[in-house]
Amino acid sequence: MLLADGTVRTYFALPPDYPFEPAPLPPLAHIPRHAGPEAWPPHHQPPPHQQQFPPHDAKRKHHADPDEGFSRYPKQPRFEAPHHPSQMPPPVDRQAVRKAFLKYSKMLNENTAQKRSYLEGGRVPCLPCGRSSKDFADVHGLIMHAYNPPNADSFVDHLGLHKALCVLMGWDYTKKPDNSKAYQSLSPDLVRASREDLILWPPTVIICNTAYGRKKDGRSEGMGNKEMDKKIAELGFAGGKSKSLYGKEGHLGQTLIKFANNPAGLKEAERLAEFLERQDHGRVGWSRVQATHSLDPDTSPLLVETDNRGEKKRILYGYLAISSDMDELDSDSRKRATLKSRKDFDASD
Ligand SMILES: [Zn+2]
Repeated sequence: MLLADGTVRTYFALPPDYPFEPAPLPPLAHIPRHAGPEAWPPHHQPPPHQQQFPPHDAKRKHHADPDEGFSRYPKQPRFEAPHHPSQMPPPVDRQAVRKAFLKYSKMLNENTAQKRSYLEGGRVPCLPCGRSSKDFADVHGLIMHAYNPPNADSFVDHLGLHKALCVLMGWDYTKKPDNSKAYQSLSPDLVRASREDLILWPPTVIICNTAYGRKKDGRSEGMGNKEMDKKIAELGFAGGKSKSLYGKEGHLGQTLIKFANNPAGLKEAERLAEFLERQDHGRVGWSRVQATHSLDPDTSPLLVETDNRGEKKRILYGYLAISSDMDELDSDSRKRATLKSRKDFDASD
């Protein structure tokens, strides 16, 4: 699609069945904040220490242990404690699984090429245990493995990955995955809700359409940080710090507004996002602009307006940054950012 700054971008960030222009969507407040009942993490216990080991582990054992016959898998690898049936495994640590979910969500979203390989449903590796993509036919195979991890040591990490993958793919993490693939059906509203729950931290609003056009040397210029700080303050929003994004050809037409990393900062960021949304200048409004071909960036009424003094102004679009926006950030912001669940703040309101 053609962006306001004249560059063309493929919209690979969402799966092919994602409703690109969902019509019509309920207002944010009416969308449930999570998919399905809170049946997650699953109630099953961590598996006993045993079972399949990646081939390299088996090989290592053969070298370390000349007594082991080549045809035998080691029954108990040395690095794990023996399993006694009388010792019940500890219950699932929900807090730890939640942390693992946020960690793997960031890992899945921060690398554009990696994210694309997961979304396109090809062969993908397992991040927690490092099994290669050859071990899984597709993302479904990896999800089955993550939900039924091979050993207790990596149980929490694998469950975190299971949920992160489901949210990325738009699937239902609260349903047990099986070969019927029923867990892969989720209504567009719930897909959107589970994705929009995963917000960038510190709270960030991505403002679009902030480029002015190209200078004579071909470089694009746009709103500077101070100018945007002033604009946001004039609109009545406090505490936001602007950071315009630049690429090889200059201003990218996007500016991040970062708010304080506390509940008050989140409220202010949400207030700004809702202000833009009310004018249909939110995420869906901006997608619509991007999908409209041959817009003249200097005259299109979708991009510029004339104020009452007769001056032309860029129309600002913007939305609260979520996990899937991570690859739009500059590398420094991406490295520093973490993800949080918006639901966690509702609980403390
Ligand atoms: Zn694994």
